[in-house]
Amino acid sequence: MGSFPQTEEIIFRSKLPDIEIRNDQPLHTYCFEHMADFADRPCIIDGATGEVHSYADVHLSARRVAAGLHHLGIDQGHVIMILLRNSPEFVLAFLGASFRGALATTANPFYTPAEIHKQATASGARLIVTESAHVDKVRAFAGERGITIVCVDGPPQGCHHFSELLQSNESDLPDVEIDPDDVVALPYSSGTTGLPKGVMLTHRGLITSVAQQVDGDNPNLYYHKEDVVLCVLPLFHIYSLNSVLLCALRVGAAILIMRKFEVVAMLELVQRFRVSIAPFVPPIVVEIAKNPIVDSYDLSSIRTVMSGAAPMGKDLEDKLRTKIPNAKLGQGYGMTEAGPVLSMNLAFAKEPSETKSGACGTVVRNAELKIVDPETGASLGRNQPGEICIRGAQIMKGYINDLEATNNTIDKEGWLHTGDIGYVDDDDEIFIVDRLKEIIKYKGFQVAPAELEALLITHPNIVEAAVVPMKDELAGEVPVAFVVPKDGSKITEDEIKQYISKQVVFYKRINRVFFTEAIPKAPSGKILRKDLRAKLAARLPDV
Ligand code: AMP
Repeated sequence: MGSFPQTEEIIFRSKLPDIEIRNDQPLHTYCFEHMADFADRPCIIDGATGEVHSYADVHLSARRVAAGLHHLGIDQGHVIMILLRNSPEFVLAFLGASFRGALATTANPFYTPAEIHKQATASGARLIVTESAHVDKVRAFAGERGITIVCVDGPPQGCHHFSELLQSNESDLPDVEIDPDDVVALPYSSGTTGLPKGVMLTHRGLITSVAQQVDGDNPNLYYHKEDVVLCVLPLFHIYSLNSVLLCALRVGAAILIMRKFEVVAMLELVQRFRVSIAPFVPPIVVEIAKNPIVDSYDLSSIRTVMSGAAPMGKDLEDKLRTKIPNAKLGQGYGMTEAGPVLSMNLAFAKEPSETKSGACGTVVRNAELKIVDPETGASLGRNQPGEICIRGAQIMKGYINDLEATNNTIDKEGWLHTGDIGYVDDDDEIFIVDRLKEIIKYKGFQVAPAELEALLITHPNIVEAAVVPMKDELAGEVPVAFVVPKDGSKITEDEIKQYISKQVVFYKRINRVFFTEAIPKAPSGKILRKDLRAKLAARLPDV
């Protein structure tokens, strides 16, 4: 970060008192710390089969998976890649990696072979847990690099079956001494700029984040062991991994796992299993608010609906309130690099307080938040929009193998700069109003413009390209490209779209292409994305 002149810092803290957090232990020890109180209660309910696994079962199975990973050559500090839809095996693979002292890098199973290859190589994964439907996407590079493939079904030739891990003897698991600052999860995120990077989340960091949410007498997020928490958001994204899975494990709640979002199946499961906590993202909220089928189901068991990962406006919040009137409703605000939760609505607390529509909560406790002027770095007071920065033991250790990107995101004083523009109001509530950073959010999924730009310029008829977000009613935002074609080339919008579609997962597909003579750039060569966004907003005739 550039060095700014020191000014007086205005620091915002939680309204809830700080608590003592025992974050010097391994994540799995912390998650199962109170298990004696709920060993026989349901831990995982498989929404696809209705099968229920108790806490005692999950604890034992996770240790067996850890022993199985050891038998397959995974040592402490090694990386495994979890390339799965939500499933009980996802949970066991993640916890198994933690028990082994290994790291799990999580990826979208619908990624293309190239996208998976990039992450597997960059993270140094030695083993991939996946489904047979995705094996062909990894087989070639796994063979070349000696990566073991474990399949939760099949297994196709040359792959191990997940049941082999489950049949291992937990007593074969060697003793591991885990340093709290060891990395346990390695999700990928492009952060404020550039390509996706491995976000190093440590045992200490994740424990701190979970404790900030669910520990203490009046936790920010009041989950308890009688709760049934819906796990429909993908576990490969840190929102679901942390605020759904880890938080529920810590308190002994049942986790109802759905492999994918499908509205009728979800409503049936909510009704059948009396779901009480529903963590959503805005597109699911839209579906519930607008789809008349919702009225045919009994959703009265839901007491908390939270939304995060992308903005949810006041109108949408108000519509949802009419559909699930008994539920406390509000937003959380997260960013992978922040561990991920920065703020959460106190509507979810044990002693809930009134919150404003459109706000995304107040800063979590045991953390500090400040708003800085992006130009001068000066710390700003209430109601003044600026870049949101967060500090605390929950934030990432850094980006793996990328000190420069780490130093550009976490400054010398330990502040993580989010690239989000927001303000804190008179009641300590945070409102996000804009985004300084490049990232595009399609239904809460990240799209990194730099990744698409790098692909676009590999086309022989494209000289230069820039990708920016365009507002979209359904997805929130979609990526659109400004392209400078090669002189004399007759390349079409469709050709460009198809060229990219073949190489990326569905939500990174380019929605529109605008041909232009030049990409606006600062003297440093940086693309002036603001100008392009302004052009789009104004829909100038030359775009
Ligand atoms: P990710 O790392 O994929 O979780 O993306 C983090 C980014 O998503 C944040 O930096 C914000 O730009 C955006 N985001 C997350 N939660 C919210 C929210 N409640 N309101 C507005 N934007 C959000």
